[in-house]
Amino acid sequence: MGIVKAAMAEEESKRQTAVEILMKVGFLDHCEHHEEIIFTVGGDEEVTGAYKYGNANWTAYQGSFKDRKDMTDHIKQESENSDYANDGCEICRSMFEKD
Ligand SMILES: [Zn+2]
Repeated sequence: MGIVKAAMAEEESKRQTAVEILMKVGFLDHCEHHEEIIFTVGGDEEVTGAYKYGNANWTAYQGSFKDRKDMTDHIKQESENSDYANDGCEICRSMFEKD
């Protein structure tokens, strides 16, 4: 694996771990029918909760991040990811509307 590719894989793994933390605290959720569809259900309070959760469980996450700031930076980044800004699952919604 080249250096650039390795850095990208590392970044992707950090991103996924941040998403996992945001799901645990109820900021993000995924569709019960489509696991790949992720959407925002929480607000600022849940983002703060995600920072606290990550820090409280740092031993579980320290392998994924450089340091605590690296973790909170990624949590912040994913909490602002516009990919998750949609309100609910669009696939389910379009199926529902067809009926
Ligand atoms: Zn769905």
